[in-house]
Amino acid sequence: MHRARLIDARQLPVYDLGISHPFARERQLPLFDLLRTHGLVSDEEWLASAPATDAELAVAHHPDYIRAVRALSAENPDPAWLARAPAFGMGTEDNPIAPGQHAAAAAVAGATLACTRAVMSGQAAHAFNPAGGLHHALPGAASGFCVYNDLVLAAREARRLGAARVLYVDVDVHHGDGVERAFDADPQVLTFSIHETPDVRWPFTGRVGDLGSGAARGSKWNLPMWPETGDDSWQQSLRDALLPAARRFRPDLIVSQHGCDAHAEDPLATLLLTTSSFLFAARLLHELSHELCGGRWVATGGGGYQPYRVLPRAWTIVWCVMSGRPLPERLDPSWRQRWQQRESRPLPQNLLDPPLPTGAGCAEAAARNAETVRALLACHALASEPG
Ligand SMILES: [Zn+2]
Ligand SMILES: [Zn+2]
Repeated sequence: MHRARLIDARQLPVYDLGISHPFARERQLPLFDLLRTHGLVSDEEWLASAPATDAELAVAHHPDYIRAVRALSAENPDPAWLARAPAFGMGTEDNPIAPGQHAAAAAVAGATLACTRAVMSGQAAHAFNPAGGLHHALPGAASGFCVYNDLVLAAREARRLGAARVLYVDVDVHHGDGVERAFDADPQVLTFSIHETPDVRWPFTGRVGDLGSGAARGSKWNLPMWPETGDDSWQQSLRDALLPAARRFRPDLIVSQHGCDAHAEDPLATLLLTTSSFLFAARLLHELSHELCGGRWVATGGGGYQPYRVLPRAWTIVWCVMSGRPLPERLDPSWRQRWQQRESRPLPQNLLDPPLPTGAGCAEAAARNAETVRALLACHALASEPG
């Protein structure tokens, strides 16, 4: 039996920055409505959480920054703090100043901490916080929609609770830069990010040769994918690089970030994945967790800017894999009816998209990606296996 726990993101504080913002509770509603409609969560699977305290946040963030976020979250922030906001990455288009921000971000961080404690204590094998995955946040600054880095907190909490080695896997289309930087010099946390190439995609970091520094050299893995990468190439690249990395590292816990913005329909990137790749990634991580670390696996959401057509299906898939449930074959028509009015195109009828037609760009991307995987394995002194 897969003892899995799920954070009810509907219960986290409201943060009103529009449907696409990762902190927007509204972004979670179609997902949780889909889970409920199909009866995919039983009562004992819900996991309670409390907002992270300032002391907990300080494990990943400078006290000055936490003070700034608190001050800038007031209904009418002090002008002195407003003047200092840019130094903390706040007041930008990605990270606007808005009331209640601290409470919302601390709640998300607390929820990922609760997942980590549930898994490390053995209360659950796997735990999922769909509201988490804020991988761009830096120790002293907000970045890319992210205020507090719940993933850094999770890895450090797991270390404190006895995990010698933590494997972090990030399948968001953007490089998991905040997490990688936090552990740049820490060989006990292996970070693995598959993302669209920094040649074209923000945050323009995450190259094959970025390996970590000092004693941690070799514990940072970056797998950049070429634009127009399709399912087959993405899945093969992920498997061929992640399996040897994970098996050599032998983690005690896996923390994963399941941003679904690598989907073909996502407006923020140009990879061409379908939801089948999200199923592939979730299954791979699930199998690795049982093979390598007694099932200990904490998963989070992340980016994903198709809140009706993609996000609810992407994270329903993660939860079904994690909780050992078969995927529902067809989405309940009542769910589609309830959310269709918000979306101009028809909502999908199935969790898994039909395969996308592949063109010349896709073939070129596949060839370049195969070359990238070979180079990556060579950088990490691992030979690539044929096939
Ligand atoms: Zn399991
Ligand atoms: Zn992203």
